[in-house]
Amino acid sequence: MCGIIGVALKSGNAAREVYSGLERLEYRGYDSAGLSVRDNDGRIITVKRGGRVANLQAGLYGITGCVAIGHTRWATHGEPNDVNAHPHTAGIFSVVHNGIIENFRELKDELQSSGEKFVSETDSEVIVRLINREYKGDVLTAVAAAVKKLKGSYALGILCADFKGIIAVKYKSPVVVGFGTDGVTLCSDIPALPDYVNSVCLPEDGDIVIITDKSASFYDKDLQPVNRVRRPVFAGQLNAGRGDYPHFMLKEIYETEQTVRDTCESFFRNVDVKRLTEYVRGADRVIITGCGTAYNAGLVAARFFTDRCGVFCQVEIASELRYSPVHITSATLVIAVSQSGETADTVEAVSALKERGARVIAVTNCGFSAITRVAGLVVPVCAGAEVCVAATKSYIGQLVALYLIAGLTGDVFKARGELLSLCNGISSLLNDCSKAGLIAEKCAASSAVFFLGRGIDYAVAVEASLKLKEVSYIFSDGYPAGELKHGTLALVDENTLSVILICDKTLADKCENAVSQIISRKGKVAVITCLADVAEKLSGSAEVWKIPACSAELSPFVSAVALQLIAYKTAVLLGRDPDKPRNLAKSVTVE
Ligand code: GLU
Repeated sequence: MCGIIGVALKSGNAAREVYSGLERLEYRGYDSAGLSVRDNDGRIITVKRGGRVANLQAGLYGITGCVAIGHTRWATHGEPNDVNAHPHTAGIFSVVHNGIIENFRELKDELQSSGEKFVSETDSEVIVRLINREYKGDVLTAVAAAVKKLKGSYALGILCADFKGIIAVKYKSPVVVGFGTDGVTLCSDIPALPDYVNSVCLPEDGDIVIITDKSASFYDKDLQPVNRVRRPVFAGQLNAGRGDYPHFMLKEIYETEQTVRDTCESFFRNVDVKRLTEYVRGADRVIITGCGTAYNAGLVAARFFTDRCGVFCQVEIASELRYSPVHITSATLVIAVSQSGETADTVEAVSALKERGARVIAVTNCGFSAITRVAGLVVPVCAGAEVCVAATKSYIGQLVALYLIAGLTGDVFKARGELLSLCNGISSLLNDCSKAGLIAEKCAASSAVFFLGRGIDYAVAVEASLKLKEVSYIFSDGYPAGELKHGTLALVDENTLSVILICDKTLADKCENAVSQIISRKGKVAVITCLADVAEKLSGSAEVWKIPACSAELSPFVSAVALQLIAYKTAVLLGRDPDKPRNLAKSVTVE
């Protein structure tokens, strides 16, 4: 949440470079945007506006200078408006911040009582005022002294009129330093780095970094020099744009098949399968944890572990797990799922469980992220850059990784074969998805949409509901079909749509009962099924999408894609921006 970027260029226009970076980072927050440039005369010029990055465009005319910082905000403290937009400035300093300063009230009171005048409502403004107060001629010393007073999480980009470069600081919030032909840059995420970057260093918590157009020097919080390894960046890790697709969400749904293939391949190439097998086979209990879509992937995967492998598996929302008295032993295996690897709730939860003796595996789309530093083992999801705020291909990639991990209790090569054989099903679904538009029309015309299923279909229904509400803003709920008559039926009327998933033939009869019960109350019904007989039987009473045939256990890999398409098409029909849903942002780095 919140994207920060900074560039120190050998030559050229840093404001333009930062502006392009903010466009790439906008998925991390779009409440406001801003940038500061140190011009060639050493003056700091700041342009900031509420709303989208594009609002900055008009203010950039005539600004020159090779060093700049920028910010795209997801507000935590203070309304999204021009004044609260970053950068915040004081004296000769300008600062962008990603994170939360938990002790900002005490610091603000203290600064105000010594005469400091604040202009914004943000927690971030205390940072720049502290640095300015500490400044006695040496930028690095001032920054080190100021950050020692901060509690919370912060990735900072700092500009000073007296220094032709940038100071970066990292504590809990993510930041990378990129090197390339044109200069040196700092950025919240690897995919948003400029394309001239060919290698990166990953600062660690407490690091302070001096960035110039030629180099970056890393120091710890006491200003002792530290070494940080430089790693290459590959083109596939960078955000390649949305090509001819109208939205990233659609493009990313169409990249699902590639994600399945790449995640399978990487599992056998990059994972220490021997150690992972020991972890899995030595576990008497598995806890899968995550937030949002990652948690929902856990709901599906729990079926892989329990139904297929006979291993007891529970799924916990990370923000709850952290404070839960859950029983942990050295035979407890915790699998942390996070697209960005930076999800603060998940990182904190698994850190706490690790301290209590659990073994931790991370399943993430971002190598070298915070979660990978906590986990004993990492299983990469190879979805590539995912720009749409709503997760699509990364959800399927998480399912693939979890399926393979569960497969280690038996024949993992067979598990891989099953996954790869699904790719045909996914591509034929995407080649013939006209039903998605028809069901989306019904969603768009409904006051509420309910997603129902039994068994593994229920787990997919929960994610389908989240996807639809995220991008369309229609009220939605996902619940077990058996629960219909225990409450939700009271909400069913002619203005609501119930989407029923039926991919497990052992449970199909009971789901068909739910269809009748809803139709009897005049509710509208759509059915998604991989079972030909079910499709035939229900096609007279509901809008039925017959998706490619597959086993119940593997059906989520196909049915979830169908449901993502429905959510996407609903959002578009209602004129929403599916890539940037209101109030949300990608990579939730605050608790
Ligand atoms: N706390 C800061 C603000 O509200 C930064 C928010 C963030 O990084 O998410 O402006």
